Amino acid sequence: MKMKTKYIFVTGGVVSSLGKGIAAASIGQLLKARGLSVTMLKLDPYINVDPGTMSPYQHGEVYVTDDGAETDLDLGHYERFLNASMKRVNNATTGQVYHTVIEKERKGDYLGATVQVIPHITDEIRSRILMAAKDNGSFDVLIVEIGGTVGDIESLPFLEAIRQFGLKVGRQNSLYVHVTLVPFIRAANEFKTKPTQHSVKDLREIGIQPDVLLCRTEGRLKKELREKIGLFCNMNAEAVIEAIDAKSIYEVPLLLERHGLGQLLVEKLGLETPEPDLTEWTNFVERVRHPQHKVSIGICGKYVELQDAYKSIIESFVHAGAANDAEVKVVWLAAEDLEKDEDNELMKSIDGILIPGGFGERGFEGKLNAIRYARETGLPFFGICLGLQTAVVEFARNVCGLDNADSREQHYDAKHPVIDFQPGQDGIERLGGTMRLGAYPCEIKSGSAARRIYGQRRIVERHRHRFEVNNEYIEILSKHGLKFSGICPQNDLVEIIELPDHPWFLAVQYHPELRSRVASPHPLFVDFVRAALEHKQARQS
Ligand code: GLN
Repeated sequence: MKMKTKYIFVTGGVVSSLGKGIAAASIGQLLKARGLSVTMLKLDPYINVDPGTMSPYQHGEVYVTDDGAETDLDLGHYERFLNASMKRVNNATTGQVYHTVIEKERKGDYLGATVQVIPHITDEIRSRILMAAKDNGSFDVLIVEIGGTVGDIESLPFLEAIRQFGLKVGRQNSLYVHVTLVPFIRAANEFKTKPTQHSVKDLREIGIQPDVLLCRTEGRLKKELREKIGLFCNMNAEAVIEAIDAKSIYEVPLLLERHGLGQLLVEKLGLETPEPDLTEWTNFVERVRHPQHKVSIGICGKYVELQDAYKSIIESFVHAGAANDAEVKVVWLAAEDLEKDEDNELMKSIDGILIPGGFGERGFEGKLNAIRYARETGLPFFGICLGLQTAVVEFARNVCGLDNADSREQHYDAKHPVIDFQPGQDGIERLGGTMRLGAYPCEIKSGSAARRIYGQRRIVERHRHRFEVNNEYIEILSKHGLKFSGICPQNDLVEIIELPDHPWFLAVQYHPELRSRVASPHPLFVDFVRAALEHKQARQS
């Protein structure tokens, strides 16, 4: 008989940026390693319907799912750790919850009632939890991560909803994990437990008694200290688990397993499972920790001060590095600095350059300089989304002699708009959720580098863009040597370009970084790192 779904709720206390997403994903990993089917849900307390219209400085990367949802970057961790594809149902925001409730109210679904946070908003949150658990059949475990920190005004309805949910499904079917901070105060030479005590007190005031505490700390927490925390927080010391800073996020599941977290969770949920199989994960972590080689890759973008904006790219390089037995050292290059770098000093120190996705005009010229340098000197170049668009503009200007070539995103009145709006995108007024989003197929031409790398004719990749290569310029660009090696068969949009006479010059309109996982590193990243290693060797000899 199929067992009932079990629910694990993950909350955070004291401060943000404790790595709650990584902790939640690690819990998922440990349960999956015990043969359970696991899915995840991120609940975000902000009022935006999704993060799609937020600046990367506010929110970091916008993660896009196959079904075209623009979501929180934690969904990327879930996919990478669980080797599973998340969907629209796996992320919900206050904006979405209110949107649904207000729509229902206007339709008259609540006729007669005063619509209120309790029960209407909390009911809607609960129904979204159920939806995530039931999606695609029924999962053994759903892990629900609540964004924000306990004590925030805006997370209250979510906490109330998970309290109610636990009551409905029963204590044996639900579990509350609280991720908290145990800071080390240097002046006193001591770990301090008070912030954790206060955070748990806040939770208990709402009616949630945590079952497990994950204590984020920079050093080892002695048994007496965990006992003390347990005493103040009304729990046994073995449920107070040390979650020490790790060198790599991929070590976190292994560290937590070592402290007995996996066993504790299955026991508390009354599950009988086989011993966990973490062999492949452990091997991967070993390769990340002890690489033979080292290679420097420049990432040139406009948000380089905030690396969360490029989260999935950074992780893709960790996966691809491990596949090449190499550490990929990322060198952050601010696009605006490259505008001034006339002697290309910044470019000379790297073995490959990646230009990631982005929006707007700032830094565009610096990226053009970087691409020109890479194209002319044989430095491996990898362009993603805006990176492809910039490469096409550079080629049109400097190789085809189309002096005023531009992207219509940068100059609306460009004389040669080699990058233009996709059909139907010009003049769109509602900016939220209206780009070309999600998975689309691409046909790869035989004999191309892309075909060699993928080893397949037809691929599917995720997208998030409004602009595209203008097909009217394909002829002149091709005549000068640019190869259009991947096309979307549904609408003839360009998906991949490459330069056959260059050691590695390839750009894609989609976002390959959204599909790279520990279990399946993305082939483009793997091959790009390989080419960068070759470039380094050639440079040195
Ligand atoms: N701004 C460009 C577009 O909308 C590129 C988007 C991206 O890089 N994700 O097409």
